[in-house]
Amino acid sequence: MTLSTDFERVSVALENAFTISRDTQTHAENVIVRITDDGGMTGIGGAAPAPHYGDTPETVEAVLPDLLAVVEEVGDPHALAEIETRMAETVRGNPAARTAVSIALHDLAARRLGVPLHRLWGIDPEAAPRTSYTIGLDTADRVREKTEAAVEAGYPILKIKLGTDRDRELIEAVRSAAPEATIRVDANEAWSPSETVRKSEWLAEYGVEFIEQPVPAENVEGLRVAYERSALPIAADESCVTLPDIPRIADRCDIANLKLMKTGGIREARRMIAAARAHGLEVMLGCMIETNASIAAAAQLAPLVDYADLDGSLLLASDPFTGPDLTGGDVRLEADANGTGVRESEE
Ligand SMILES: [Mg+2]
Repeated sequence: MTLSTDFERVSVALENAFTISRDTQTHAENVIVRITDDGGMTGIGGAAPAPHYGDTPETVEAVLPDLLAVVEEVGDPHALAEIETRMAETVRGNPAARTAVSIALHDLAARRLGVPLHRLWGIDPEAAPRTSYTIGLDTADRVREKTEAAVEAGYPILKIKLGTDRDRELIEAVRSAAPEATIRVDANEAWSPSETVRKSEWLAEYGVEFIEQPVPAENVEGLRVAYERSALPIAADESCVTLPDIPRIADRCDIANLKLMKTGGIREARRMIAAARAHGLEVMLGCMIETNASIAAAAQLAPLVDYADLDGSLLLASDPFTGPDLTGGDVRLEADANGTGVRESEE
């Protein structure tokens, strides 16, 4: 079989500038991969490069020709294991680029078989947890307005970015605007272990569900201190990148937050879910700011996890791709949308 491939960089404006403890983003630079079989059927994947993990749009564009050459050489979209292994041998690191190719191949393979990806895996589409909706860092007044808008739009689970000297004021603003919401917080490595313990006590009083990545990933001992003394469960995100990280974090957090853009492929993500379960961890599936070219694939995996944070496309002003309907946070996997269910948006 002959497979043809191409890729294209897209710059998508965000609905609101998005700030976390490290930086602010106004646009998402994603790279879209398309793989077409000789019958004209196309699989679509997306890379959302995160500089924190060494990926930029430029590095993705630089390595994709070599990765797509592997796809064309193997020439079989169902040879997922062989292609993913050979891609990992071809380029070191570069998880976002490898993930984009992995997604496009999985999309194409399931489309060729005429089934949604979750159905190919035998996954119950009804089992996906609701996704949270993220509120970035801002003034307390703006955080309150954004929270009111999210509640108005029907999102019952909110993820609040913290990591400032105004954290208590921000959570107060959120809780007053959303008295019924489930609230999770993400400090993106901004706290010390003792600060985490102290803040966890009043965050618990505001009914927060858990704290994501309070301390820097390199502070391995600090994560253990936070986990052992925190009043709230701890999720590891920056501390949990690929499969070998699972045993390393197993005795120092409650929840492993996996993201396709960190793992380097859908198969690695599935191995990480299994490994996390084997170590007694709960599993969260998160994302970068991504179009539906990649969110649609993450949604297919969502029934395998306990917590979903798949709002990447929801944060865009408009998405060039349509994917699963996440309105109000419910992850709706359509029974008749083959592959990942992604489609090019009508202009
Ligand atoms: Mg996070």
